[in-house]
Amino acid sequence: MLHFGILGNPVKHSKSPLIHNAWLKKSGVNGNYDYILVENQEDLAKVFNELQSKDFTGVNVTVPYKNEILTIAQNAGFRITREVEEIGAANTINFKTKEVINTDSYGFSKIYSPNEGDHILVIGAGGVAPAIIYSCKKANITITNRTIAKAEELAERFMCDLYAGELSKLDLSNFDAIINATSLGLNNEDIPLNYKTLQKYTICVDTIYNPRATPFLQNAQKKGCKVQNGTMMLIHQGAKSFQNWTGLMPNIQTAENLLKDFLL
Ligand code: NDP
Repeated sequence: MLHFGILGNPVKHSKSPLIHNAWLKKSGVNGNYDYILVENQEDLAKVFNELQSKDFTGVNVTVPYKNEILTIAQNAGFRITREVEEIGAANTINFKTKEVINTDSYGFSKIYSPNEGDHILVIGAGGVAPAIIYSCKKANITITNRTIAKAEELAERFMCDLYAGELSKLDLSNFDAIINATSLGLNNEDIPLNYKTLQKYTICVDTIYNPRATPFLQNAQKKGCKVQNGTMMLIHQGAKSFQNWTGLMPNIQTAENLLKDFLL
């Protein structure tokens, strides 16, 4: 039997076990995908070694360990891809090939892909933001964040523009797309944007999938904008991990059926 899991803190809210266990069954792979809660960062290296010695095939890594896991894996002699190096974070470990990959950028590219030279606004500079910026390299990106120093670091690293002013004062009319990469909306909080300046040609994307329409997406819908939430990103990043571990691309529709309540 093959063993997989989602490693992070918290993990119980994750839909990954639901999706991956359905994919394992449907693909005829004898395996199990579990929750792996790691409460303290000091235990992360120990857990990594245990998973390896317990013959795990692979794990997904979520908050708050997407950066820290890289150092641990590298110290253990794992190979990191160029993409992971550029993004600076990983969400997938393959214990068999001793490889560390990032499938968040792939997942995001399946929900939104800019045209060459598009102007896009990325709000947020946490764990997922660099993967989004990486996948939108073709665009002219403006990045902003509550903690400006974090946005500044990303803006420098990816050569993006920085918006360091008050979000509510930013004119949105020049953006082809606006991406919410913050956790604002998870508890139905709105992003303090000047929606009066939002135009209907601007595509609005939220990485959040629960609630399926955050106040940001609801406001955008009212303006007639095309909107997209994070459900398909979640599914596609998972599919790419599954493919890396098993060599099989799983059925996307199976996951869509399971998460139909979260599809927009
Ligand atoms: P992090 O915890 O690493 O980052 C959180 C981000 O949200 C930071 O930019 C933080 O700003 C900002 N933020 C949090 N609270 C507030 C607030 N009250 N006001 C303004 N900004 C705030 O999380 P991740 O980057 O990992 O995840 C971000 C979002 O992306 C989450 O909602 C998560 O659910 C979603 N996600 C979706 C995925 C999918 O597959 N659909 C995959 C991964 C993430 P600051 O730096 O100032 O703290």
